[in-house]
Amino acid sequence: MRCVASSVLLVAACASASELPPAAPSAAIDVQTAAADRPAAVDSMLDTVDPAQLRASIELLVGFGTRHTLSAADDPARGIGAAREAIAAHFRRSPRLRVAFDTHRVEPDGRRVDQPTDVVNVVATLPGTMPEAAARHYYVIGHYDSRVTDLMNRTADAPGANDDGSGTALVMELARVMSQHDYDATIVFMATAGEEQGLLGARAHAQAARERGVDVRAVLSNDIVGDPTGPGGARHDGAVRVFSIALPPEPDLDRMRTLAATHDGPSRQLARYVHEIGRLHALPVQAKLVFRRDRFLRGGDHTAFNEEGFAAVRFSEVEENYDRQHQDVRTEGGRSFGDLAEHVDEGYLAGVARLNAASLAHLANAPSAPGNARIVAAALSHDTTMRWDASPEPDVAGYEVVWRDTTAPQWTDTKDVGAALQATLPMSKDNVFFGVRAYDAEGYRSPVRFMDVGTG
Ligand SMILES: [Zn+2]
Repeated sequence: MRCVASSVLLVAACASASELPPAAPSAAIDVQTAAADRPAAVDSMLDTVDPAQLRASIELLVGFGTRHTLSAADDPARGIGAAREAIAAHFRRSPRLRVAFDTHRVEPDGRRVDQPTDVVNVVATLPGTMPEAAARHYYVIGHYDSRVTDLMNRTADAPGANDDGSGTALVMELARVMSQHDYDATIVFMATAGEEQGLLGARAHAQAARERGVDVRAVLSNDIVGDPTGPGGARHDGAVRVFSIALPPEPDLDRMRTLAATHDGPSRQLARYVHEIGRLHALPVQAKLVFRRDRFLRGGDHTAFNEEGFAAVRFSEVEENYDRQHQDVRTEGGRSFGDLAEHVDEGYLAGVARLNAASLAHLANAPSAPGNARIVAAALSHDTTMRWDASPEPDVAGYEVVWRDTTAPQWTDTKDVGAALQATLPMSKDNVFFGVRAYDAEGYRSPVRFMDVGTG
């Protein structure tokens, strides 16, 4: 049952979950949400993600020869300068986007930068339309710089079709598609530079955002998302890995020990959210969650945001082909190397794009997760009382308590408690993890706020 704030009767009926019959333990969140419960506006928006547009953007990016961060900035046809002008021009074709170059001067560092260099992120912002939500920012990013075998080689052809032309093309396509609609909160489409030289563009942007107090709620980083085939020929068309770090940079370890909240940091909740949205919309490419920051021996821009305290996850295809990334384009003994456009499957890439677009649409239209959520642990009891603060958006229609076994990776159960700011469920707080989320009347749900523990 959905309890809607505008209905006095329903609110009254839902005011105290303790008056409800015992919670059914079997209603898994991600499968119980029937098609009728998902916003049709999201489905129709997803239908307009166009594989041909993605293919065109891949070809456009590869056409600049190299997009190495240290390559020519002023050649109109070749190098990273021409590439970023083309990305900005693409963004500008959507009149509702605010397009800007986010430039950071980097001096030689003795490692991966050997000349003074402008590292330039291309940023397109779609302002939120709800005053109470517009300050919340949701990012989708991909890095447009590329590389070959020698990290410092700035002149050789570095097509970077998949790493990370795929992520960049995805960002460009979502900017085109999503800017044709309104969202309560602000969405930022960003192509970063300097990733291969050490996450330079993302780190500078994330640091500046933290220093300026920008309310960055989530970052979806897409890096190597265009090739569903593995080196042995296996295909993984139905999944994309979503990596998430477990904990924020400075976790409160005493609190962690008390709550056993070792898998419930904000990035991990974001990853679960993406997974659930993929299930809700029955998307062709589903999230395969990896509870790990990133792959071994590799890094990515999401980590630059994590380090500044922001929730951020990384999307990457299931099985990478190392012959096709960070390689000089060549053939050796009949074996072909290089990150070529022919290895990107735009149909698969469109599937990954839809998972991103659906997640962003829900995040940016849903209310905020409730604050100050806590289990009341004032006395020993066999049931569990929880309280939380109201989410600030005016369209909040109610709240859902969610829970899972302490050994379970995903939220498994939910109880709609209507507009109430507290609930008592007939189950022991000792045996499960609890969280709470807000929803609006259109069916958009916030990410889950993990329940802390308090005495009142
Ligand atoms: Zn990459």
